[in-house]
Amino acid sequence: MTECSRCGESEDVENGRIVGQFDHWDQAVCNRCRATELADHTPLVEEEAEVKAVRQLTERSLDTIADLLDLDESTVKMKLRVVEKRINNGQVTRETLLTQNIG
Ligand SMILES: [Zn+2]
Repeated sequence: MTECSRCGESEDVENGRIVGQFDHWDQAVCNRCRATELADHTPLVEEEAEVKAVRQLTERSLDTIADLLDLDESTVKMKLRVVEKRINNGQVTRETLLTQNIG
């Protein structure tokens, strides 16, 4: 089982933790550590970062993500839309979201 390179925890979907990897990273990271990084280093607020982190780390569908984070699917959609809006407004770039805090 893959472990998060930050906190060392393994994936635990029941408790809302997934561990994933980006194509250009050789380290796996969990959605919680990733969300903290995004919230700390981008203008995203914590809830937006949480949703975005899971979205970045998994191919899972929106309702699965909602389940994982214990949110409504509509809330997940809304958060992702806010993140898109922030990207479109230039508050945060896709590049920043992807590359922030590597290594
Ligand atoms: Zn972690």
